[in-house]
Amino acid sequence: MQRCSHLYGSGVRCGEETLPGSDFCPDHVTVEDGHEPLSDHPFRKLLMRLAALILLIAFLIPFYYTIKALYLDTTIEAQEAR
Ligand SMILES: [Zn+2]
Repeated sequence: MQRCSHLYGSGVRCGEETLPGSDFCPDHVTVEDGHEPLSDHPFRKLLMRLAALILLIAFLIPFYYTIKALYLDTTIEAQEAR
C-alpha cells in the first residue's frame, strides 16, 4: 500500500495508507482533492478586481489629502484666513 501524500503544517508527512486510486488517506482525501481550484470560480476574478479597486481607492484618498496638505498648503491657508 502507498502512503498518504498529505503534509501537515509542521512539514511531517501523514503516513496513513492511501485509498485505492488516490494519493491520500481517507482523512485527507477531501482536504486535498475535494475543493475546487480557485480559478474555476467565475465571479472570483471580478470580485478580486473589485476588491483591488476598493483597496486602491482606500489608499489613494489619504495619499491625495496628504499630498494636498503638504504641497498645496498655501491655498488652504488663504481659505482659512478669510
Ligand atoms: Zn493522510
